[in-house]
Amino acid sequence: MKEYWQEELETMKRPDLEKLQVERLKKTVELAMNSPFYGNIFKERKITPESIKSLEDLQRFPFTVKDDLRSHYPFGLSSVPLEKVVRLHSSSGTTGNPTVILHTQKDLDEWANQVARCMYMVGVRNTDVFQNTSGYGMFTGGLGFQYGAERLGALTVPAAAGNSRRQIKFIMDFGTTAVHAIPSYATRLAEVFMEMGIDPRKDTKLKTMFIGAEPHSEEQRKRIEQLFGVKAYNSFGMSEMNGPGVAFECKEQNGLHIWEDYVIVEIVNPVTLEPVKDGEIGEMVLTTINREAMPLFRYRTRDLTCIIPGDCPCGRTHRRIARIKGRSDDMMIVKGVNIFPIQIEKILMNFKELGMNYLITIETIENNDEMLVEVELGDTVRVDDYALLQNLTKAITHQLKDEILLTPKVKLVERGTLPQSDGKAVRVKDLRKNH
Ligand code: ADP
Ligand code: ZN
Repeated sequence: MKEYWQEELETMKRPDLEKLQVERLKKTVELAMNSPFYGNIFKERKITPESIKSLEDLQRFPFTVKDDLRSHYPFGLSSVPLEKVVRLHSSSGTTGNPTVILHTQKDLDEWANQVARCMYMVGVRNTDVFQNTSGYGMFTGGLGFQYGAERLGALTVPAAAGNSRRQIKFIMDFGTTAVHAIPSYATRLAEVFMEMGIDPRKDTKLKTMFIGAEPHSEEQRKRIEQLFGVKAYNSFGMSEMNGPGVAFECKEQNGLHIWEDYVIVEIVNPVTLEPVKDGEIGEMVLTTINREAMPLFRYRTRDLTCIIPGDCPCGRTHRRIARIKGRSDDMMIVKGVNIFPIQIEKILMNFKELGMNYLITIETIENNDEMLVEVELGDTVRVDDYALLQNLTKAITHQLKDEILLTPKVKLVERGTLPQSDGKAVRVKDLRKNH
């Protein structure tokens, strides 16, 4: 088995790592000159490989945004002839044209390496049985984890999305030790385990979970860990950056190492686009420096996070990003207050009496913005225990008010009554007229 503790790269001294980044940036510029989109930009801005001397030179590049990908759909950002491209992934495209990301065979090999490195980092080995509950297809969580786990040599169970009872049968029959699931699905799976009278903590071999692809709070992670009796690691990825494998927690579970031999990371103020200091929240901007078919320069991810200052005790020198707070477009402005769904989740998850599914609805009532927070009860609470429900509602409302500075209406509902999505959870319904 090839070792995926890539010590030389993972613990590279910062000056050496930065030198490697500059080298790779130059190579990437050379490739991207062939792309119709970047070719023009580079000509205009006189960007050539030779003109890149240090990471400072990145500031000469304009930002790339999702709309650039849309308006050059499908192949306008390709840096290699199409005969070298072996796969594409495309986003759903609910608004306008979808986006497309192209990969050469080398790109796919590098991506598998990234994911294998992440999994190895938290203890997955070729003796593990890895089950993937992501959809296989355009969603990168499927094939991304599949090839990474195979590369590592684990026995893979490509169960794909849905059919929880079958997932559980596989977990039991095949002795699954590691699972990848989006957090909202992990909680659903825990419920089905309960319904089937199986205790995943005792009756399975599960020990590791990878949760990602959607924002979730530390509190939700802890719940998932308790429900399954596992360690759950935060996995960040996005299709534009291949998919999973971009940034991943190490065993310290304190921030996600972002693989800086693959991307250059900047955090900028989303309004002024100026860089912010380490520890300050801003929008993450990423440049691919190890991709052939479709490099992206200074791609605005819309994801809000910060660089965690200081070194990680694990010894890796690649910097850590904090848990994603949400996308800039997830921010709700209600009565002039800026709120992220994750702030609400954090409070709800602290109440043991509550389940894990919730829905935030905002609507205009008599010219006022009103927020309704509906949350499912856990199975320890009886829905006709009115006194308890009343007290609970009061306590939740109070804590939410402290966190988000306005008083929402809180409604406790029976388990299984709120909508459950097949893919990423939909947490907010904004019914206001101007939305
Ligand atoms: P889509 O844009 O259709 O959701 P992706 O699957 O590429 O498609 O989603 C990437 C986005 O998912 C990221 O930009 C981020 O907003 C979110 N995301 C991915 N991983 C995490 C994570 N670990 N924590 C929070 N959000 C995440
Ligand atoms: Zn670490």
